[in-house]
Amino acid sequence: MSRLIVISNRVNPPAEAGQGSAGGLAMALAAALRESSGVWFGWSGETTELFTGQLSVRRIGGVTVALIDLEDQDRQEYYNGYANKTLWPLFHYRMDLAAYERSFSAGYERVNERFAQTVLPLIEPDDIIWVQDYHLLMLARELRKRGVKNRIGFFLHIPWPARRVFTTLPGHAELAEALFHYDLLGFQTEDHRDAFSDYAVHSAGGVLHEGGVVEAFGRKVRIGAFPIGIDTPEFVAAVQSEPAREHFTRMRDSLAGRRMILGVDRLDYSKGLEERFLAYEQFLADNPDQHEKLFLLQIATSTRGEVEAYQDIRAKLDTVSGRINGEFASVDWVPIRYVNRAYRRDELAGVYRAAHIGLVTPLRDGMNLVAKEYVAAQDPADPGVLILSEFAGAAEQMKEALIVNPFSREDVAEAIKRGLAMPREERLRRWESLMHGVATQDVAAWRDSFVEALTGAPAEAPTLQPV
Ligand code: ADP
Repeated sequence: MSRLIVISNRVNPPAEAGQGSAGGLAMALAAALRESSGVWFGWSGETTELFTGQLSVRRIGGVTVALIDLEDQDRQEYYNGYANKTLWPLFHYRMDLAAYERSFSAGYERVNERFAQTVLPLIEPDDIIWVQDYHLLMLARELRKRGVKNRIGFFLHIPWPARRVFTTLPGHAELAEALFHYDLLGFQTEDHRDAFSDYAVHSAGGVLHEGGVVEAFGRKVRIGAFPIGIDTPEFVAAVQSEPAREHFTRMRDSLAGRRMILGVDRLDYSKGLEERFLAYEQFLADNPDQHEKLFLLQIATSTRGEVEAYQDIRAKLDTVSGRINGEFASVDWVPIRYVNRAYRRDELAGVYRAAHIGLVTPLRDGMNLVAKEYVAAQDPADPGVLILSEFAGAAEQMKEALIVNPFSREDVAEAIKRGLAMPREERLRRWESLMHGVATQDVAAWRDSFVEALTGAPAEAPTLQPV
């Protein structure tokens, strides 16, 4: 078995094997790293006056972790800048929010070089290298420049946008060319994969060969869809835990016979929270008989507070939820409970289970794991209804959800109505099918299928023959 090297912007293995509070992704990667005695390399999150390339190596939960510090300028230009102000909005179809500054792309390239330079001494000839996400699109190119011939795979956790959107990025060809230095590119959905090959073929003069190999910029790369999942066994166990039961009981008691619609998201403009509130308002306006019989609980944790767009969305949501509550509330009923805090995973599991409807309506999302967690948390004898945006990657797999267009208030309002009225038999039928997908296509299956595809891919993209 080859040793695995995982490279990502941040590194967060669970402190102990099997510890339930870490995310499913971290647990799955940590398990593979433990098994192959691998290394997880990335940014410490700390900044230093002057970049030294000094590696700090330690063991966390049985995983070898190698961290570097970056400069404050790197944080501003690479992380807050190109990653979160340029690529994130653009790849989520928010061209209006995408900022293009030369210092951002220069900072991004510099940090990708710094990553390559510092991880280099750790790489042994038989290692398999797996790079994660949009912060490190250029890493393989930088490693190849430094003579690395190992197999290098890349997985993009966010959407790959439609060709006409991607071409609005200044320097898009250079960024796309850099991806052809990988051996395997993994996308969340077939739609994202096809958008990438569409760009390569129609904007870069490339060719799509059979077997999922794209040729452009004088190189070949294998592409595939590898939809990520949750750690389903761990999450199902979390639902059965004492804190989950406590939270479930507490929530159900507080419902006082009312039904709960639940949203759980990072506070991000891609999640469609304002549109969700407005659709719910429409539902309330259309269905006065439902007033006081239900409420929407929206749990939203703040992230990326240093980026202005995130401050704006927060202020916006405060205003909209306040307005809707002012309009519809009565002395003993508030239609929206809006909570800005993070929950522990086991507590969250209990809250999911208490919800009659899981309302997951991002305007654009790579996958959306909340949809999968909601399904995994349901009572198999009396499951709730998942309402899911057609623009979440998860919609490609979760066809038995009520699929909605999150831009249409009427569409979402009608789905809420339909979900509330759905007979138990139909809820059971839909849930069983959804749960089957969540259980079989979990994060371990995702990891194994990607690593297997990468291991099977011939080393070095340029020598790859079309199949
Ligand atoms: P993204 O990666 O864009 O944040 P996902 O839906 O794929 O979106 O993943 C979000 C993860 O963060 C899920 O595992 C979810 O449980 C967790 N999460 C989101 N909001 C909260 C919150 N308020 N408290 C705790 N966990 C949260």
